Amino acid sequence: MFTGIGVSSGSAVAPALRLAPPITTSPQDSDRGPASDTATQLALLRGGFTKAADALKSEADLRDGEARDVLNVAAQIAGDSALHAAAEKHVNAGTPAAHAVTLAAAEFAAMFEKLGGYMAERAADLRGVRDRVVALIKGVAAPGVPQPGYPYVLVAKDLTPADTATLGGSDVVAIVTEEGGPTSHTAILARALGIPAVVAASGASELDDGTELLVNGASGVVLVNPSAEQRQRALSASAASLVTSGAGRTQDGHPVGLLANIAGPADGVAALEADAEGVGLFRTEFAFLDRSTAPTFDEQKALYTAVLTQFAGKKVVARTLDAGADKPLPFLPLGAEENPALGVRGLRTRVRFPELLGNQLKALAAAGAESNADLWVMAPMVATFDEAAEFTVLARGYGIRTCGAMIEVPSAALRAGDILSEADFVSIGTNDLTQYTLAADRMLGAVAPLLDPWQPALLDLVALTVNASDGKPVGVCGEAAADPLLALVFAGLGVTSLSMAPRAIAGVRTALLGVTFAQCQQVAEAARKARSAREARSAVRDLVPAALVAELGLTQDGLA
Ligand code: PEP
Ligand code: MG
Repeated sequence: MFTGIGVSSGSAVAPALRLAPPITTSPQDSDRGPASDTATQLALLRGGFTKAADALKSEADLRDGEARDVLNVAAQIAGDSALHAAAEKHVNAGTPAAHAVTLAAAEFAAMFEKLGGYMAERAADLRGVRDRVVALIKGVAAPGVPQPGYPYVLVAKDLTPADTATLGGSDVVAIVTEEGGPTSHTAILARALGIPAVVAASGASELDDGTELLVNGASGVVLVNPSAEQRQRALSASAASLVTSGAGRTQDGHPVGLLANIAGPADGVAALEADAEGVGLFRTEFAFLDRSTAPTFDEQKALYTAVLTQFAGKKVVARTLDAGADKPLPFLPLGAEENPALGVRGLRTRVRFPELLGNQLKALAAAGAESNADLWVMAPMVATFDEAAEFTVLARGYGIRTCGAMIEVPSAALRAGDILSEADFVSIGTNDLTQYTLAADRMLGAVAPLLDPWQPALLDLVALTVNASDGKPVGVCGEAAADPLLALVFAGLGVTSLSMAPRAIAGVRTALLGVTFAQCQQVAEAARKARSAREARSAVRDLVPAALVAELGLTQDGLA
């Protein structure tokens, strides 16, 4: 048995298949002509980069949302002139084309990793691009996600973002990786695709192909060669009947809004299919991640109008651009920072780029004025009352009626009362709030165990925020809201809405309907009394009715 971190819930039983290792290159390669034939090697090199960039771009065009963004980023890297120049330098010095790509990619990856944070994540994109270009130069099949024609569990040391982006519609029924964290690309995409996934499962990459695995993406447990009884339990749990429509409420009618996290209209469709009551987090920056110039007023207005039209009569909480750290926008040159997660990101970018925020608020207000949706707008990474006050005054000046702040920084949670004296609502971003409370980089697999949203310190900050709210709405829109049992804790603490990936909504709806509000309060109290994330989780699981635990496909041992 392996235990990692469950990052995308659901269970699956299938044989393991490992991701093929990348093709190795050497300075002695002569498979496509001698290295001394610089003209041929340069032609092979350029052809490899161009074909890889084109293929990635075409694959991006076939997909939506996050998968599309990831493939577009990879296509951009494959077309990057600095990377080409570095590889050409090696070819000109007598290195064969494929090995020149390996060397140039290693130089860039080392540079990215040194920068840390977001840039370190780009090293994974870069390696994926390298593997494709090398395969094209050598004229062999690119390594990547196997397609054996039968369902299997994909086992890998780590997946490149581009690998993960091609999982939709593949034979992969679950993912187990040795590295990666809960907010890595692998985790976010697996959740969006509804594929059970476990990351940071050390030793997993040594599993042999064909080994039967039972993967539980909620508990993080991976069982090797499960018994017939264990398989049976897992399969009946995955057929659990979840409630697929209706507003969020407890058994006794206490309302808790069930909202969706979206990146654009494609996710909006999934949100409506899941009968979301609206959008709790529209991550506007996701639409512009691959842009080299700032989106115009007209482009923005068209995007916001498309989403607001989908949600006519419903609430849509749009977040202003959250650029910087893990989400750099090419048109916002923030420069190198020692600690990007603690640097100029989110609302902080307004100081250097005031016109960008102004233009976005203007476009949001214009789209809102023409639609029947109830538009709320909030700022990311608010740390102080002054920032919240400045943002609300600015947004109101553009005609936004309902203005709020995200609570992602401990200082904002500690002084939520001050922030809510100006803001109309707050929404707790547990991904960042966990990162900043536990001082653990959300992109770093090595500190992933600290990034557990069941940490009692995080629950205390949620409670503080709600207790200071004086009846104003307090939502949770981080990944934690998608955990059905943690959702009960948040409801019990008094959170008024929960926003999550559309696929998670049915599970949370089912959980809420399975308990009374008093039971939610009871589990919240038990979770806050715990001294560790593990204690909090098991205290809550013990209190929740057994029938509900079974209905949600959860069990005490984490196997089904
Ligand atoms: C969060 O930090 O919890 C959040 C919802 O924002 P993001 O994940 O986009 O940073
Ligand atoms: Mg955040």
